[in-house]
Amino acid sequence: MPIATVNPATGETLKTYDALGEEEIERRLATAEATFDTYRTTPYTERKRLLHRAADLLEADAQDIGRTMTVEMGKPVKQARAEAAKCAKAMRWYADHAEELLADEEPAKADVEDSGASRVLVRYRPLGPVLAVMPWNFPLWQVIRFAAPALMAGNVGLLKHASNVPQTALYLEDLFRRAGYPEGCFQTLLVGSGAIEDILRDPRIKAATLTGSEPAGRAVASVAGDEIKKTVLELGGSDPFVVMPSADIEQAARTAVTARVQNNGQSCIAAKRFIVHTDVFDAFAERFTENMKALTVGDPLDEGTDVGPVATEQGRDDLVELVDDAVESGATVLCGGELPDGDGWYYPPTVLADITPEMRIHHEETFGPVATLYRAADLDEAVAIANDSPFGLSSNVWTRDEAETDRFVRDLEAGGVFFNGMTASHPAYPFGGTKRSGYGRELSGHGIREFCNITTVWHG
Ligand code: NDP
Repeated sequence: MPIATVNPATGETLKTYDALGEEEIERRLATAEATFDTYRTTPYTERKRLLHRAADLLEADAQDIGRTMTVEMGKPVKQARAEAAKCAKAMRWYADHAEELLADEEPAKADVEDSGASRVLVRYRPLGPVLAVMPWNFPLWQVIRFAAPALMAGNVGLLKHASNVPQTALYLEDLFRRAGYPEGCFQTLLVGSGAIEDILRDPRIKAATLTGSEPAGRAVASVAGDEIKKTVLELGGSDPFVVMPSADIEQAARTAVTARVQNNGQSCIAAKRFIVHTDVFDAFAERFTENMKALTVGDPLDEGTDVGPVATEQGRDDLVELVDDAVESGATVLCGGELPDGDGWYYPPTVLADITPEMRIHHEETFGPVATLYRAADLDEAVAIANDSPFGLSSNVWTRDEAETDRFVRDLEAGGVFFNGMTASHPAYPFGGTKRSGYGRELSGHGIREFCNITTVWHG
């Protein structure tokens, strides 16, 4: 894949970049190692000052970097600006909370005595340079949610961003430089995915985090496993959105649309499978389909656009294949499903019903504005359908019945259960999945501790 900005709204190549050569990669690895050696000892007050400064700069740049993201990967520009604002908020959250999240811990007195110690503490120390392999769908957020905790913990970062968002990748390096971080704290490596194995095997890289597809996750985790290096993987999702009879159907059908088409339907935590109790299936299906049809599809730079193009031609081809396969096997198209004429990689908001397990769409992630509808006879069947997926990222349930709530929390195989709302990440809550959605957690105290050397300090 060439490293280039190709506008998904037109298909036009706007800017291409040469990949870094071996010498430059070596220089950057050496810089990361040297910088870590001093940066790891900086006090929290200094780290906090730098990250607040970066957050302020990012907030001030929201308009421009928002436009850049939209031109590179097609998200509606108002969502792009909101992404920049969300990043600034997460940076401030980590700037303000990291010291407390990583404070020394003291085991219980009885345990300290039992171990024959006079004093014991657990200290979170940084690991070193961490490689971040990141996707294009939230080109700022995916990186910041790694970088903010990593930098506050005293690590340094090297970013291998997706090849279709090079301008955003370079912006991020520049942002941290302008904020005053020492050179080497955060560097962008403009390289293709073929260069990753050697970089990951380099002894100066201590760990890796990847957000993206299952094949990319498997490739990076295999190499890291071979080198005995820690990884965090945030892979795909096919989140269920369960609607039970006690739900507010109007509200559920409105939120369902946002949950499905946010970011042009290209979000790992988008609700993708809508599993509706038979008593309210028809009412929900009708409202949901009407709301999907009412969306404004068009130029993502227009303020009024709800859904822009899919980010890449390949991404749209994948979507077409999944929908065609389902329709050929008997799925009913309630809306959408037809490619529009004209330039750009647009795909219409689509709702499919009568999904069966034989269809690829039942098991695979739909990365675009395509929803599948399932009818469930009761709670047990709703849970069974929800869990019949290789993924386990998050889940959404609409119910006002307390007893049902407990059952869903007990039984859903997912890293999150969101009731009467849609899944959204927040810096204070852990984020990540089970099954093939990956392992490890980002955000919150759990996220910042992933890339720490958790050190037991024992005094006799
Ligand atoms: P990829 O997983 O291929 O890309 C994500 C990142 O991984 C990019 O930086 C990419 O680099 C890199 N990468 C890809 N293959 C390797 C490899 N073998 N070794 C090291 N790094 C690698 O995502 P795609 O853009 O191809 O999207 C394909 C599908 O992945 C989507 O349709 C969706 O299902 C899923 N996806 C999920 C995301 C999520 O948020 N969970 C985000 C993006 C995609 P490069 O760009 O240079 O190939």
